Amino acid sequence: MSVPAPIPESAPTATAAAGLNESWRGRYASAVMNTFGTPTRVLVRGAGAHVWDADGNEYVDLLAGIAVNCLGHAHPAIIAAVTEQLRTLGHISNLFTSPAQIRLAETLDALVFPGAPQASRVFLANSGTEANEAAFKIARRHGGATRPRILALENAFHGRTMGALALTHKRAYREPFEPLPGGVEFLPAGDVDALRAALGSDVAALFVEPIQGEAGVQPLPSGYLEAARELTAAAGALLIIDEVQTGMGRTGAWMAHHLLAPGVVPDVVTLAKGLGGGMPIGATVATGEAAQLLGPGQHGTTFGGNPVAAAAALAVINTINKEELLKRVTELGDRWAAQLADVPGVTEVRGVGLLRGVGLTDTVGPAAEVAAELEQRGFIVNPPRPDTLRLAPPFVLADADADAFTGVLTDILTRRAAA
Ligand SMILES: *Cc1c(COP(=O)(O)O)cnc(C)c1O
Repeated sequence: MSVPAPIPESAPTATAAAGLNESWRGRYASAVMNTFGTPTRVLVRGAGAHVWDADGNEYVDLLAGIAVNCLGHAHPAIIAAVTEQLRTLGHISNLFTSPAQIRLAETLDALVFPGAPQASRVFLANSGTEANEAAFKIARRHGGATRPRILALENAFHGRTMGALALTHKRAYREPFEPLPGGVEFLPAGDVDALRAALGSDVAALFVEPIQGEAGVQPLPSGYLEAARELTAAAGALLIIDEVQTGMGRTGAWMAHHLLAPGVVPDVVTLAKGLGGGMPIGATVATGEAAQLLGPGQHGTTFGGNPVAAAAALAVINTINKEELLKRVTELGDRWAAQLADVPGVTEVRGVGLLRGVGLTDTVGPAAEVAAELEQRGFIVNPPRPDTLRLAPPFVLADADADAFTGVLTDILTRRAAA
């Protein structure tokens, strides 16, 4: 069989009037599976908190690849770490290990469970959904034959592979793929009585996000995680906290639960998104008994713990420390949220640090339309809900860019309310 030569990179057979962006979009539609719809912009370059599309338009990236590019685009520390690691040793599979993998595991043990790093263990994967798959398997191992039930919360998002999807609440995501792994039940988020009623000696685990990101940046009510810890411990069930979106400094603390529920020590924490600063990596970090439940042959991955991805994650952690970015996240996040809360047409600003949901009044119309106008004016955000814009910018976002966004949002919402 003959394979066609790849299309040369100078390519777009430009109907120049429509622009390179449109020409690439046409090619996307005829080459890529339609799982997202065709994205509006074809991005070609990024630097710091800014990106450029194929027609040379510049945008302030207030979404950071959905809470991923915590150091912005093309950060020199990530480039240096990845380049050096790839030059030295790129990939080895999990038949071998590498200093980068071991250092990262040690670092995450201490970062996630500062009280008892020696009791914790890490499984490295490539994404958030995979981190949750490993956690799901830990829950099943803990449950055995006597604890078949697993609890998750309404509006939860834990990923798109079959196990993580079973933990994800949205019906439209789940239904086309049933039957999913069984035993999962959904409880109203934040309802302690419902949790107490549901827990028993037949429950293996409870999965929670400290702030439900995909649900529109919806924090759990204060006290819920504390109650969840107490009740799961009493029932002998694991508490599994999904910090895929909220972890790695996004809230101004390394882990959102460190900030929002300081006394709570979960059994398992899952990470991804910000962990690699743009390199694909996920981690399942467990402590105590839960750290020992996956034995030889019970789980695996060819790419997980890849030295290049591990080197990127170590560079992210070192840079956040060196540049004192946790403090930056808190300061900018607080100031910006207060500013945004005063914008006419904004009902409330939810979330913490640089993970924010900006609630909109009905009078300004659907959030998707507001997001599209913002994109036209050079700001990337997304509408996780019809009444909410999500902001999850790089930690290195400049004050001037944050202020400029507030100005443009004010302008757009004022006009839309008057229309
Ligand atoms: C994004 C996300 C996931 C899934 O991560 P992927 O890397 O897209 O698989 C899981 N849990 C939460 C809370 C997320 O925000």
